[in-house]
Amino acid sequence: MSLEKDCVQQKSESKISEHAIKDCIFCKIIRGEIPCSKIYEDKEFLAFLDIKPINKGHALIIPKIHCKNLLDFPKSEETDLVEFIKKVAAAVVKATNADGFNLGMNNGGAAGQIVQHAHFHIIPRFDNDGLISWPHKEYSEGEMQEMQKKIVGLL
Ligand code: 5GP
Ligand code: ZN
Repeated sequence: MSLEKDCVQQKSESKISEHAIKDCIFCKIIRGEIPCSKIYEDKEFLAFLDIKPINKGHALIIPKIHCKNLLDFPKSEETDLVEFIKKVAAAVVKATNADGFNLGMNNGGAAGQIVQHAHFHIIPRFDNDGLISWPHKEYSEGEMQEMQKKIVGLL
């Protein structure tokens, strides 16, 4: 099915506005309206280089159907997403001679999401590349167990 048909079908299914799909920068990349440095694709996903990399070789993986974040991510029909990510990450690591990589996803503005089309970041990492990890917080007495209960109760 063409992306356009996908989008129309999706619009009626998930009430994502036509506007969001038309104006979305990653949908424009998928439609070929703006260029990207493509790395790999299959029927359902596309991988390409991030235009402003955290480290050179930083890649993005996006579903070809517009969705905002992981919570409204479409169920893959054929693609094994983890295998897709592994394939791209392994090539990025090899090409950049990286010592490791981060797999990341920003979901929502509070988490740093700027482009409102779900995407995974694969960021090659190098020993002493100067990138600082997130700081950690401490739970008070019993707080961790309370949080555990609360989350488990919602599953
Ligand atoms: P976010 O903060 O939403 O998780 O990350 C969006 C990412 O998309 C950023 O790292 C940004 O550099 C990248 N990006 C934004 N616009 C474009 C574009 O037009 N082309 C490419 N290749 N990457 C883009
Ligand atoms: Zn989109």
